[in-house]
Amino acid sequence: MEEERLCLSNKLKGIRIRTFDDIRVKILKTYNSKVSVAKSVRKKGLVKYLIRIERIHDYLMNDFYRNIELLPKYDELHQFYKDLIAMSCMGNRYSDVIGKIIGYKSVIRKLTREYSERIRLSFDVPEARKLSREYVGRVLSVFRRLRKDLECLKEVVNELRKLPCIIMSEPKIVVAGMPQVGKSTFVSRISSAKPEISPFPFTTKEIIVGHLEVNYRRIQVIDTPGILDRPLNELNPIERKALVALKNLPDSIIFIVDPYEGSYYSLDRQITLLRNLLTTFNEWRAKMLVAINKIDIVGKKRLELVAKAVKSVFKGEVYYMSALNGVGVKEVLDAAIRLAEGYP
Ligand code: GDP
Repeated sequence: MEEERLCLSNKLKGIRIRTFDDIRVKILKTYNSKVSVAKSVRKKGLVKYLIRIERIHDYLMNDFYRNIELLPKYDELHQFYKDLIAMSCMGNRYSDVIGKIIGYKSVIRKLTREYSERIRLSFDVPEARKLSREYVGRVLSVFRRLRKDLECLKEVVNELRKLPCIIMSEPKIVVAGMPQVGKSTFVSRISSAKPEISPFPFTTKEIIVGHLEVNYRRIQVIDTPGILDRPLNELNPIERKALVALKNLPDSIIFIVDPYEGSYYSLDRQITLLRNLLTTFNEWRAKMLVAINKIDIVGKKRLELVAKAVKSVFKGEVYYMSALNGVGVKEVLDAAIRLAEGYP
């Protein structure tokens, strides 16, 4: 349970970002809500307006700002999330935007102090009413200036919140390879629970995370259909950015090859993708292994030919498995865990 809290999506689950419209609705509702003051209180008419602005102030400090201050600091974010945020409306302004919003906190405090004082000193109830309305107008104009930033921040938080829980301190194994080679069969076979599927932030793709436990250690196996399974030149600009974000995620990578002669994508295309990934992410060379899948339906000769093609572009370990019936799967997984932990 403690661990569960460590991932970003869980941290964001309790955080609500209010937009300018949310704030306006809430402030007007608060302003118009009934205030009752004991009969014995002096200057009841004025006090009612003081209470109104105090309630607005409390909402802003204890709800709006509390949520903003719960957001993770940019420096504390894993590079994967930093790259995802860079893909969003936020670009590289995350810290600036939060700093700017928090900067206005003292402006709100000052306004509340100033208007409380002026209402206290006002001559009569109409003046107190006029001042309290002026306060509302000035507070709203502060948040109106943040309109775009708040909308963008809300979108970013909502998108990141939907991600499956990925614990960055635990091994993360990413599977790659063309469609139909057996990635999801592999992920399902080794996962202890049903893999979590969620939108890949800011794209129309998905990210699938399978959780498993090996020797009491939690491992995460990640599949990204439509991003790591296509020739890089077929990716659109958003998908390319998603690929950049993925660069820093894996501790090891399993590249799965379908050796079957009638495979959905030819061996050539699969080898081209492998070569592409290795040139794009040079640092993946040391973290990758290749698993030739579907050995249950492919003869020895064909396997040798496929292995030779793989080895022409890849210098690391090559394994054989059948994700369908489980043969060799444990060996592939153990090797990926060793790579993830830095023992080749
Ligand atoms: P993905 O697109 O890479 O996720 O591939 P899938 O896991 O969806 O598998 C594509 C097809 O290959 C499915 O029909 C699977 O049942 C089949 N498949 C996956 N692994 C094996 C295997 O080891 N042997 C055989 N014969 N079929 C497999």
